[in-house]
Amino acid sequence: MRSDNQFLENGDALPRILFAASEIQPLIKTGGLADVAGSLPIALHQLGVDVRLILPAYPAVIEKLVPLQALASLRIPGWGGQVRILQGSFKEDLPIYLVDIPGLFDRAGNPYVNAQGKDWKDNADRFAAFARVIVAIALKQTSIDWRPDLVHCNDWQTGLVPALLSQHSNRPASVFTIHNLSYQGVYNHDTFRRLRLPPEFWSHHGLEFYENFSFIKGGLAFADRITTVSPTYSREILTPEFGYGLEGLLNHRRPHLRGILNGIDDQFWNPASDPYLEANYSAADLAAKATNKQALQQTLGLTQDRDAMLLGHIGRTVPQKGCDLILDVLPRLIEKGDMQLALLGSGDPQLENALQEVAARHPQRIAVHIGYDEELAHRIEAGADAFLMPSRYEPCGLNQMYSLRYGTPPIVHRTGGLADTVTDASAENVMAETANGFVFEQPTADAMWEAIEHAHAIFRRPPVWWEKLARAGMGEDFSWQNSARAYLELYQQAIDEPLGNPLAKN
Ligand code: ADP
Repeated sequence: MRSDNQFLENGDALPRILFAASEIQPLIKTGGLADVAGSLPIALHQLGVDVRLILPAYPAVIEKLVPLQALASLRIPGWGGQVRILQGSFKEDLPIYLVDIPGLFDRAGNPYVNAQGKDWKDNADRFAAFARVIVAIALKQTSIDWRPDLVHCNDWQTGLVPALLSQHSNRPASVFTIHNLSYQGVYNHDTFRRLRLPPEFWSHHGLEFYENFSFIKGGLAFADRITTVSPTYSREILTPEFGYGLEGLLNHRRPHLRGILNGIDDQFWNPASDPYLEANYSAADLAAKATNKQALQQTLGLTQDRDAMLLGHIGRTVPQKGCDLILDVLPRLIEKGDMQLALLGSGDPQLENALQEVAARHPQRIAVHIGYDEELAHRIEAGADAFLMPSRYEPCGLNQMYSLRYGTPPIVHRTGGLADTVTDASAENVMAETANGFVFEQPTADAMWEAIEHAHAIFRRPPVWWEKLARAGMGEDFSWQNSARAYLELYQQAIDEPLGNPLAKN
């Protein structure tokens, strides 16, 4: 098999890629999927690939991309009205197609949930329609004069695409990336009928899943290749603990499954040029980090204490991210006397309230900011001394990589992408600059506290210790270039050796 480097060096025609996602940073974002969808296509483009993006035309996206050009209109099964495809221009002039179906996508706020945090009732209709349009473009059934060699689908919202493509002999190849296996898009048989999906998909080998059907199975059973966003998570999802009932199918697809670690947008997340920071800094000159710490303490109303060990946390306030473990250790952290916490997140209202209550009682030590705030996220990464990431599972995780780049050693649970990016500190490896953070084995408050104590002990040693740890992380390369090359190699395999139709075996 040829490697991607040979492939680039031979000057072979690079594949044309349609990259489909339900959120793309900086247009609309709820999590890491958006970061990937906003960065990987750019890195592929920089390798010379003709890559185009496709996203639902949410109002916030239309607003950011005007002027838009109406390219095509079409009708799709399961939806009565007209569907329009608009074209805008993404970063580096990449074409982006917006699927404009006002009845389905013209609503403000979060792409998946209403103001009460409940799933939109018609999510199945919305993302089935999105998939139908992606397939129509992929098969060149619209007036758009372009056909991809491969469609790269992401998470359950695009899961039906590989399944629908499989019905066509002259189809482009497909890759399906799992960003988080626990979100599957599971619906009942009535919904299946209403969406007018091919009846043969209602099969164990197709979309059926314990008497319901799932969108994500469309990707897992039918895509030519499957990826997930870190090597460790690609192994974890083969087990019942992390497989959510899909481990059997994933084991069956194992020859086609690969873990490729996400990169980060190293322009947007660069302490040397980040416009959100009080003071920019680099590994060569860490002094200004203290200015960011002071500014963060001031902004959040924490005591202005240079010597306190300030821990940061950013993320969805949900059990997956281990926020309850953070809540559990707060009494110990307060008792310690020389520690502070800056937490930014939103999610589970009960957890949010519980965290806020503790913060209200100890405002000089604990700051809890509920909401989504990009600027504050950057300021926490720069201003904190260490970053807490006790995720129970973590497909890849981005914040630990941002932390490493910002010289803020992460304290993480050994799982998924956290295990692949963080090396636990010991007396020997800190000085050798081969450790970059702290790792604990079990997702429990006690294990996390032990790791925090370990970090605290190293923090209290002469500053050279902590600086070595910080510099080791700052020196690592988390850019997208390597990952983009790995995806390109995989695309070529998917094109060269497509999967047979899984339903044909019945
Ligand atoms: P996930 O996709 O599971 O939420 P990731 O770590 O892969 O977790 O990505 C989360 C992304 O969202 C990161 O870029 C993180 O900085 C950002 N993020 C999460 N919550 C917030 C918030 N409350 N404010 C600002 N950024 C946030």
